[in-house]
Amino acid sequence: MSLRGITKRFGEFTAVDDIDLDIKEGEFFTLLGPSGCGKTTTLRMIAGFEEPNAGQILVAGSDVAGLPAHKRPTNTVFQSYALFPHLTVRDNVAYGLKRKRVGKDEISKRVDEELQRVGLAAEANRKPNQLSGGQQQRVALARAVVNLPKVLLLDEPLGALDLKLRKGLQLELKRIQQEIGITFVYVTHDQEEALTMSDRIAVMNRGIVEQVAEPVEVYERPATTFVAGFIGVSNLMPGVVRSLSGDKAEVELEAGVTVSAEANGLATGEQCHAVVRPEKLFVAKKGEVAPQQGADAQSVDGVVASSVYLGTATQLVVELRGGSRMTVLCPNTDESERQSLPGGGAEVSLSWTPEHIHLVRESDSERATADHEALGMDRSAAA
Ligand code: ATP
Repeated sequence: MSLRGITKRFGEFTAVDDIDLDIKEGEFFTLLGPSGCGKTTTLRMIAGFEEPNAGQILVAGSDVAGLPAHKRPTNTVFQSYALFPHLTVRDNVAYGLKRKRVGKDEISKRVDEELQRVGLAAEANRKPNQLSGGQQQRVALARAVVNLPKVLLLDEPLGALDLKLRKGLQLELKRIQQEIGITFVYVTHDQEEALTMSDRIAVMNRGIVEQVAEPVEVYERPATTFVAGFIGVSNLMPGVVRSLSGDKAEVELEAGVTVSAEANGLATGEQCHAVVRPEKLFVAKKGEVAPQQGADAQSVDGVVASSVYLGTATQLVVELRGGSRMTVLCPNTDESERQSLPGGGAEVSLSWTPEHIHLVRESDSERATADHEALGMDRSAAA
């Protein structure tokens, strides 16, 4: 499925701004981003509940423009399960097939198969109000999948469930998707959910797509400051590229050291941020390097601003020169090591292996906001 230059405006406001996406057949593809970034609007345009102002939506090679939702080769699963309350679980799942006048025996076979798949064979004759939230969402899933759509669209389907149930259903949804091989386009604002389930993730911000990549890639090699901050903790050290040599850049960090990292297309003189994930940072007394680190380790000095015990790990926040704050996760594997961790106010050295530092550009949308703020314009004034 492909989106080409898709744009959606509501009055003066552009909710989705010229998006291009290529989603592979059988892929679990996630639209991830904060509230209001345009992910639901994008999904609703694919489903046919909303018409784009510009652009094309191609499903299995054909343009679906102008087709009403029920004629598109897509089905949608919503956060609110939207089941028919007066129908049994079986009849809810059978509903779409009956409307398409599929034969009785085939309906029965396919409905049984889907109820089995989602683990609800025993509840087939119950009504929705006799089911838990998680079970109702399974019915909604079975009801969509039984129609064999080319693409299944899921809008925060686990959003109404409690955390433990959500985690269980995440793995189950992934298993079901792999089993049936249908393309899933999944909308969520939950980064952990996106990382757990997706083959690829499109990270959206203010109507644009900032990065499309596999989960490991968006976490380990975020493309922009926004992606780095939205997926995981925003561990950003501002700096400027001083020189380039091959594919390496020498970056002078505001924190007072110069480090070498993959240039990632940055040019000499360009402002950038260096990201190191919390679990890739080691902490030692000022002037020392943590014993786990090799001779090529890079380091920077700072002061511990806070230390919090989280059970499996201790989280330190270290303030660097220039004011940026780095979060460090120290696993609580050894009690004596945990007790010897520096407390608030201690002067420390943070170190990392060169392969774990990654340079990112400032997001265009963040820069635009910063420019507006610098000019004394707020968003509403700008609009
Ligand atoms: P959430 O996670 O909160 O649902 P989202 O990323 O899915 O957020 P959208 O629902 O796509 O966001 O909305 C994107 C923007 O478009 C928001 O600012 C929203 O207020 C606006 N918007 C959405 N639908 C309409 C509408 N029918 N009329 C006017 N503005 C709308």
